[in-house]
Amino acid sequence: MDDKGESDICIIGAGIGGLTAGALLTKKGYEVAIFEKEALIGGRALSFDDLTSFTLERYKELLSRFHMHIQFSDPDLQIIFEKKMLRGYKLDLGYHAIGGGVLSNLNSILSELNDHVDILESYVGLIKDDGFDFPFLSRTDKLKILPNLLRLLFSSEKTMKQLDSVSMKETIEKYGKGKMKLILEIFSRSITTVNNLDRISTGEMFRAQRNLYRGSKPVGYPKNGLNAIHQKLADFITKKGGEIHLEKPVKKILFDGKKATGVFVGNKEHYFKTIVSNILIQDLFTIADEKYFPKEYVKNIKSLTGTGSLCAYYSLKKIDSNLPGKTFHFIERDVGVDGKDAVGMIDFMASLPESGLSPFDHLVQSYIICTPDEAKNKKMLQSLRELLDKNLEGLIPDFRSNLNWAIYPAVWHLDGVAKTIDNKKIDIRTPVENLYVIGDCVKAPGIGFNCALNSAKMLCENFPSLS
Ligand SMILES: Cc1cc2nc3c(=O)[nH]c(=O)nc-3n(C[C@H](O)[C@H](O)[C@H](O)COP(=O)(O)OP(=O)(O)OC[C@H]3O[C@@H](n4cnc5c(N)ncnc54)[C@H](O)[C@@H]3O)c2cc1C
Repeated sequence: MDDKGESDICIIGAGIGGLTAGALLTKKGYEVAIFEKEALIGGRALSFDDLTSFTLERYKELLSRFHMHIQFSDPDLQIIFEKKMLRGYKLDLGYHAIGGGVLSNLNSILSELNDHVDILESYVGLIKDDGFDFPFLSRTDKLKILPNLLRLLFSSEKTMKQLDSVSMKETIEKYGKGKMKLILEIFSRSITTVNNLDRISTGEMFRAQRNLYRGSKPVGYPKNGLNAIHQKLADFITKKGGEIHLEKPVKKILFDGKKATGVFVGNKEHYFKTIVSNILIQDLFTIADEKYFPKEYVKNIKSLTGTGSLCAYYSLKKIDSNLPGKTFHFIERDVGVDGKDAVGMIDFMASLPESGLSPFDHLVQSYIICTPDEAKNKKMLQSLRELLDKNLEGLIPDFRSNLNWAIYPAVWHLDGVAKTIDNKKIDIRTPVENLYVIGDCVKAPGIGFNCALNSAKMLCENFPSLS
């Protein structure tokens, strides 16, 4: 703290973006204080080490604060909680697959902190009407397709910028034939969690996808769950003297003219040289008076939309020995969603004993993409559930007779801002002096988790090392 009573940096929110920024800035020698409104860290990537310590009411309440609810379950959720059927399972709020495996952005950031997480990683297969292909691309496909695909993905940044406003539909019409068409149709949807190809930005999709071609397998998930990552970042921050205050919602950002000067938490004002907001960008004006921002900026932020999905977690007594460790895509044609076709994934990485996620039986994670509005529509969710179950049945025909339990979380704020041509994402630096925004809602490479990590890294480039 300096002689004006100001500390260095305040971060609002302990999501993966806030924690990463906190750790990197602490390493550079800054005093960092993080205020988080929840009792747990991790934000939308929050993972539960032991859900049996939660009452059903607390679980439901927490989900609702993250724009989610359990739409279906088998048996009834009340019974699942009463019988403590989730004991020993590590679940996230809803299924996550992190783009890039062992060579992902995550471990490159952790290596700066001399740390590392072990990552499970998988190629992706495709579920078909009569079985499945694993991997999705055969050797011959790879020889035919990969050179063209890589040429597209590794275009210059100038070309990428032009492609930002070109829809995937146009790109597929131009380059997509045979299996190349199928790859572009499926991967662009699964990476962006948007089914409507007219909306998906080719530039955003290619930037995110090339992240996955750095030598590792395309899909990854940390052993012992996402919490293993958050805990490492939080430990680094606190060991170096940083502070993480839980259950401390920031009620207001304080301003002095055109400058952000601090935050109001509890019933106290705290002053900082820099304020970094990690909250959903659409919520910024619930804590910051919009009169301090240009009108166009406010209007744009209010217009930004996120993405949605229906997830399913299945606990199965047994599965075929050829499935653990593998991940599969599926595409369902003309099923009434925005964009007509719906893409989803069924993932058996968590069913490996070394995942540390399902100690007794086999945990299968899955999701199917929909829009935020579709994720609130009961009739739509019912048909999406049927599609998830049908695809699992394609891989495990007798899955129902092996089922311990299943829960289906629906989420209508999965990605903070959909990476589409109609959303105009904002820069990390805001028009207000000393105020920055980070997370998956801002202009940074990658999507979802990776975008949040990269935004934190970009933020830190604005701060010279003090040591
Ligand atoms: C069900 C689900 C599945 C997903 N699947 C994937 C996936 O497969 N792959 C992928 O890459 N991404 C996925 N995502 C998205 C990914 O989780 C997010 O991109 C990432 O976690 C965003 O991190 P963040 O730091 O930007 O923000 P958040 O995680 O939203 O963090 C913001 C934090 O701010 C806190 N906060 C809010 N208001 C205040 C306040 N006033 N004061 C203090 N604190 C406040 C919140 O509690 C939260 O902890 C998924 C998300 C969900 C919900």
